[in-house]
Amino acid sequence: MSCIISSSCKMCRREGQKLFLKGDRCYTDKCSYERRPYPPGQHGQRRMKFSEFALQLREKQKARRYYGVMEGQFRKYYARAAAQKGDTGLNLLRQLELRFDNIVYTLGFAASRREAKQLIRHNHFMLNGKRANIPSIVLKPGDIIEVAEDSREKAKVMAAIEGSSRREVPAWLAAEHSAYKGDVKELPAREHVTLPIEENMIVEFYSR
Ligand code: SF4
Repeated sequence: MSCIISSSCKMCRREGQKLFLKGDRCYTDKCSYERRPYPPGQHGQRRMKFSEFALQLREKQKARRYYGVMEGQFRKYYARAAAQKGDTGLNLLRQLELRFDNIVYTLGFAASRREAKQLIRHNHFMLNGKRANIPSIVLKPGDIIEVAEDSREKAKVMAAIEGSSRREVPAWLAAEHSAYKGDVKELPAREHVTLPIEENMIVEFYSR
């Protein structure tokens, strides 16, 4: 199974903003981006002039890295978004927000999206009453997510729930930490996407 292996903190520095890829560390003064808010590498501190293409590419990479999605899969999300009715950029962001791993993280059952992905793959979650181990499933309103009963004492899950008070559960989701469950109330709206991103640039990137 393929995964993104580039150093998480380097990705934040490359994209010029915090992508919150490392869980608790991202909220401390150990955050690399806080200490070195410029791109990694020998020429990182040079002033760079970006072409239109480079800016579009960066927006696409930023979204891909934030949600932890490989290029091939991201392209599929884009193709699906373009085939749907309405705003392609919003359709794309909705699919990313509705990924199973993103929802587990956003509900506060994992410290990062990467950890959510790992916990799901290891069968620690139920979707609508059945074990589900595919992090990329795109959920829909009405879906119910639960921590499997035999995984509720798992240290990572307990630590994530404890640390989740730093993050607000958005209005399109409902979390019930005491019952280890949550659900998708409605489709996420544009204002629910907290990543500062210009999705129209991603659309332009793939429309070239
Ligand atoms: Fe990014 Fe800082 Fe978290 Fe590293 S610690 S992943 S630089 S937000």
